[in-house]
Amino acid sequence: MARSDQEWNGIYKHMDAGTCYVCGKPVKTGSAIYGLTGAHYDCEVGTGRAYEAAVIRIEDALANLGVVAQRPRVPEGKGKVAKKAIAKAVAAIEKETGAKLTGVLFWNQKGNFRGPKWDLARWGLQFSMQLPNGNIVRGSSHSWATVTMCANLPLQAHEERDSLYSYNVEPQ
Ligand SMILES: [Zn+2]
Repeated sequence: MARSDQEWNGIYKHMDAGTCYVCGKPVKTGSAIYGLTGAHYDCEVGTGRAYEAAVIRIEDALANLGVVAQRPRVPEGKGKVAKKAIAKAVAAIEKETGAKLTGVLFWNQKGNFRGPKWDLARWGLQFSMQLPNGNIVRGSSHSWATVTMCANLPLQAHEERDSLYSYNVEPQ
């Protein structure tokens, strides 16, 4: 069974204090140490979890290489950078149209469909807009720039040609 975050937090406290999370005694320099948890090697083996810890270490290494997402990720559109990009895109569209946006949903092109081969926009929004005349319509936006670029640069919204309430939002 994998260790919970709570278990790891307990282990990290012992690592910081230089003690073994299994027996609670100091882990002296020069003693046999189990690298991943900082516990006495013999104590770690006694837990029967040394192998599991090694597997987790390999999975973490693979995750760092982008092979597999090991740790739970922030849901798409909920991270700090995404929230900033979304807020700026909404502001750009509101500035361009004079409309008020509500019910904003974020979409993100899946990795397999990114890149020059597919030539698809990277991310965008779907929303309701209250027009200056009071009417409420559905609208959408898309961006070819990355979410990170849009979070960090001034944005401008342009209505797409031949489409109604569909906007291209890009850094200026
Ligand atoms: Zn110990």
